[in-house]
Amino acid sequence: ELEVALKVVIVGNGGVGKSSMIQRYCKGTFTKDYKKTIGVDFLERQIEVDGEEVRLMLWDTAGQEEFDAITKAYYRGAQACVLAFSTVDRESFEAAHSWKLKVENECGEIPTVIVQNKIDLMDHSVVNPEEAELLARALGCRLLQTSVKEDLNVGAVFRHLAAQCLAE
Ligand code: GDP
Ligand code: MG
Repeated sequence: ELEVALKVVIVGNGGVGKSSMIQRYCKGTFTKDYKKTIGVDFLERQIEVDGEEVRLMLWDTAGQEEFDAITKAYYRGAQACVLAFSTVDRESFEAAHSWKLKVENECGEIPTVIVQNKIDLMDHSVVNPEEAELLARALGCRLLQTSVKEDLNVGAVFRHLAAQCLAE
């Protein structure tokens, strides 16, 4: 039987919770200070979508996004993208558009989900719901709200992406 394997890149400003999301989804754990496992480029998890086995390879960065220094190797062959910003980091929200362009530039149009993470901190939100929706519409992507900390909606992000890829 044919196995589908998908390379997924997770982009967005530093500190929005990208590494935590990968760790949560693939290992089921959450820590305050996640440090990238040396020598590991991605973690993986297998799921079933519409009766098909899909192996998701979630590629992490080692913090190069802070210096705008993500290499071409990171993006190479990516088939889906998670574009994340944080509920409590205005700059990360405002950077979303340019992250979308960067991914498009390296990978072309690939299925992308916009993720508003840290919704457990909604009381301190610096992004209002309407502008988040507007952003998603402008970029032509689905918007999902997650809390990696509270384990809210993380699985939905990857199910949605995998389903989109299978439908193509
Ligand atoms: P990255 O730079 O995008 O990879 O972000 P990290 O995964 O390193 O997370 C940055 C910080 O945000 C860490 O202290 C995480 O524990 C924290 N964090 C990640 N996700 C959440 C979340 O959903 N809620 C809260 N409150 N903190 C989070
Ligand atoms: Mg990280």
